[in-house]
Amino acid sequence: MTAQLINGKELSAVLKQEMKGEVQELKQQGLTPHLTVVLVGENPASKSYVKGKEKAAAETGISSSLIELPESTSEAELLQIIKDLNTDESVHGILVQLPLPKQISEQQVIETIHPDKDVDGFHPSNIGKMMTGEDTFLPCTPYGIITMLKSKNIEIEGKHAVIIGRSNIVGKPVGQLLLNENATVTYCHSKTKNLKELAATADILVAAIGKAHAITADYIKNGAVVIDVGINRQADGTLTGDVDFESAKEKASYITPVPRGVGPMTITMLLKNTIKAAKGLSTIE
Ligand code: NDP
Repeated sequence: MTAQLINGKELSAVLKQEMKGEVQELKQQGLTPHLTVVLVGENPASKSYVKGKEKAAAETGISSSLIELPESTSEAELLQIIKDLNTDESVHGILVQLPLPKQISEQQVIETIHPDKDVDGFHPSNIGKMMTGEDTFLPCTPYGIITMLKSKNIEIEGKHAVIIGRSNIVGKPVGQLLLNENATVTYCHSKTKNLKELAATADILVAAIGKAHAITADYIKNGAVVIDVGINRQADGTLTGDVDFESAKEKASYITPVPRGVGPMTITMLLKNTIKAAKGLSTIE
C-alpha cells in the first residue's frame, strides 16, 4: 500500500481563499479583523514563524501588527503591553510568540491575555471550554490536525487514536479533540513502556515528539492514518518530521508530509481564530 497524502499546504490554500471572501464581507460591514503579534528577543525560528503569520494574514486581508521587544524586556513590561492590547478595541487577536526569555513566565503571559482575544487557544479558560466541548478558540496545531482528518472524511468515531507526546500545545489538546470526536485515545510519552506495540495498535497515530524519524514503519499498523507534527531541522538545513516518511507511507492509508503538512495548517487555523475573535467582539451577526 502507498498512503494518500494529506497535503496541509494545499488545504491551507483552499481555507485561506474561503477566509479571504469572509474577511472581504466583514470589511464591507466596517470590521477588519486585526491580529497583534508580540515578539520578544531575537530567536531566529520565532522571527521566521512570525513572518509566516504576518504573510498569511496579509493573504487573507486580515490586518496584523507586530510589536518587537528586546530580549531584556521584563515580565512586568510585557504584561502591561498585553493589558493595553486587551482593552484596545481595534485589536481582536493577541499572540505572544513562544518561547519567551527566561525572566518571563510563559504561564503568566498566557493567563494575562484576555480569553476573548486568545487566538492561540492557550488560556486555561479556553482549554477548560475545549475539554467540556464548549465553543471556544481551539489551539491551532490540534485544530489544524482535526481539520485535515475531516477534509479527507477520515472516520474518527470509535477509532483508536494513539498520541505520542503530551505537551500542552500539541499532544494533550490533540488527544482531547479526538476524544471529543468520539475516538478512544491513548497518550504516550517518554516514560511509556512498549511504545512501539502501543503505536502499532493505532488507527490514527499522531507523532508530536520532536525527534527526527523516530517513528518507523514498525510503529505503524497497516492502513493507519499517520499525522506527523514534528518539525526537525537536519544538518543540511532542511526540515523533516518525527516519522520516517519513506517507510511509513508503505503501511499507512493516509500520511501528512513534512514540510507541507501540519505546519501550514497551524498558521491557517490562527487566522480562523482571528476572524472568530473579530466577530465575537463586534455587533455584526
Ligand atoms: P515538547 O518537547 O513540548 O514535547 C515532546 C513530547 O514528546 C513530550 O511529551 C515527551 O515526553 C515526548 N517524547 C520525547 N521523546 C520521546 C520518546 N523517545 N518517546 C516517546 N515520547 C517522547 O514538544 P512539542 O509538543 O512542542 O512539539 C513536538 C514536535 O512538534 C516538535 O518537533 C515541534 O517542533 C513540532 N511542532 C510543530 C508544530 C506545527 O505547526 N507543525 C507546532 C508545534 C510543535 P515527556 O512529556 O515524558 O517529556
